[in-house]
Amino acid sequence: MLYIFSGIISTALVILLEFLFWQIPFSLHDFRPGLVLPAGGLIEGALCSLGIYLYLRIRKRRLKARHFIFGVICAFVGFWVIYYLNYSSAYINNGMINHSFKGMHISNYMYDNTHSFNFGNYLNFIFNHYIVKTYSVGGYIVTTDKLGIGFHRIAFILECIGFCLGSLGCSVIAMEGRDYCKSCKGDFTIKRLYSFDPEILGEEMEGITKSFESKSTFSDFISKDRRHAKEQSPFIEVYLKYCTSCKVAYISFKYMYFKEKANDQYKLKEDKDRFKQIEAPYLIT
Ligand SMILES: [Zn+2]
Repeated sequence: MLYIFSGIISTALVILLEFLFWQIPFSLHDFRPGLVLPAGGLIEGALCSLGIYLYLRIRKRRLKARHFIFGVICAFVGFWVIYYLNYSSAYINNGMINHSFKGMHISNYMYDNTHSFNFGNYLNFIFNHYIVKTYSVGGYIVTTDKLGIGFHRIAFILECIGFCLGSLGCSVIAMEGRDYCKSCKGDFTIKRLYSFDPEILGEEMEGITKSFESKSTFSDFISKDRRHAKEQSPFIEVYLKYCTSCKVAYISFKYMYFKEKANDQYKLKEDKDRFKQIEAPYLIT
């Protein structure tokens, strides 16, 4: 249940951040390059659910459907709370809207001759007049208040979808690269064993499979003076990973190589397409 708390905290922080931006004044949530692309929504939607994914990552929990769903709920609720806060903090001073509580609250004004500004009318007002921004699109300058209510409604809906998609995108980024046991929640315990030349991969895999016949043969096999190929590129690193609660173990072979960066700097990278893994049921008893 702590993931719920984490999601609420990150959503509250996003709402607070947005409110602080309004004091500059700047508005991130409806930042839409190219008029409709909901960039601000994607960013804030991702940040709303970030707490959930950080929690899962730190506590080494497996991502489940309920975490996805709650992340999207956080983003969706965050979207509406931001708009409601925008209405609640809309004060009018010298004919201009501010969010610093200067002047009279907008609900003291009439939206039309018969209705005052409630939240629904405020949204209509935003669709009609409020977002007066000038963008440069393909060399043309377009002022969005000339685009009409239909345009603003579509942009508003896309922004809401952007919040939800941002949350899903955050889950993918935050959980990327985790290696966890499929049967339980926990991460694998991973031990690096040794490295060798990729040319003898077939031979090594066969040798390891044969050595599974007994645990002592396997430990002999891996403790032998193996070919350390650290200086050469590429090489294969061998890992043992296991889950003690589910009694499953694997030997994985990671294909590593040095990628050249600028100024003769090299970075060690893994070629994930060449990843190989074999089950090692005899290693866990
Ligand atoms: Zn497990």
